[in-house]
Amino acid sequence: MRLKNVPGSREEIEASPYAMTEPEEYRGRWQSVFPEARPLHVEIGMGKGQFLTEMARAHPDINYLGIEKFSSVLVRAVQKQEALALPNLRLIRMDAEDLLSVFAEGEVDRIYLNFSDPWPKDRHAKRRLTSENFLRRYDVILAKEGRLEFKTDNRELFDFSLESIRDHGWQLLAVTYDLHHSELAEGNIRTEYEERFSALGHPICKLICAR
Ligand code: SAM
Repeated sequence: MRLKNVPGSREEIEASPYAMTEPEEYRGRWQSVFPEARPLHVEIGMGKGQFLTEMARAHPDINYLGIEKFSSVLVRAVQKQEALALPNLRLIRMDAEDLLSVFAEGEVDRIYLNFSDPWPKDRHAKRRLTSENFLRRYDVILAKEGRLEFKTDNRELFDFSLESIRDHGWQLLAVTYDLHHSELAEGNIRTEYEERFSALGHPICKLICAR
């Protein structure tokens, strides 16, 4: 994602009741930030929040948390949520490297990764959000029956992810190389990047996995 500095974004995020500025304080008690305790679904690398905002609207019976590393991007999701005030959506500016300081063991029911940065150079493979480095963290914070869903148009990253997940000993529950023409298309909510790449004719890959 091309990053434009958005002046005042950090302050705007800090002023919003929907952005959790000290996320470590909620470790083990994330349900307390929502009006009702519900299954907790987390998108890591949510960007400007198109997917998660639509998901929260479509599924009021789920609590959603969006994680994004950069204030200049997250602020757009915060602005959307300020307008919509969805009770089941909260946002966090943090790096996924710190997941274990923010979530207790088994606290998360589902993780979404959408169009994660590919980090194409081998020496950066550890930064990919589907690398062993991150799967180990997901293993701690995901509930026993929890699952991970990943979408991308990047075939190399997708193939890397399939291998990484298999090597980690997880089960692939569903795999498609053309999401929009597969049975997984039903109920699919498109992310900002998914719309962009799909309009260019790129097929979208998706996998769902669990322990
Ligand atoms: N998920 C959105 C979509 O599909 O439209 C955005 C995709 S964008 C290519 C990837 C996003 O992940 C960027 O906004 C980036 O800042 C964020 N990101 C990358 N690495 C991250 C990390 N380690 N922790 C949190 N966010 C991260």
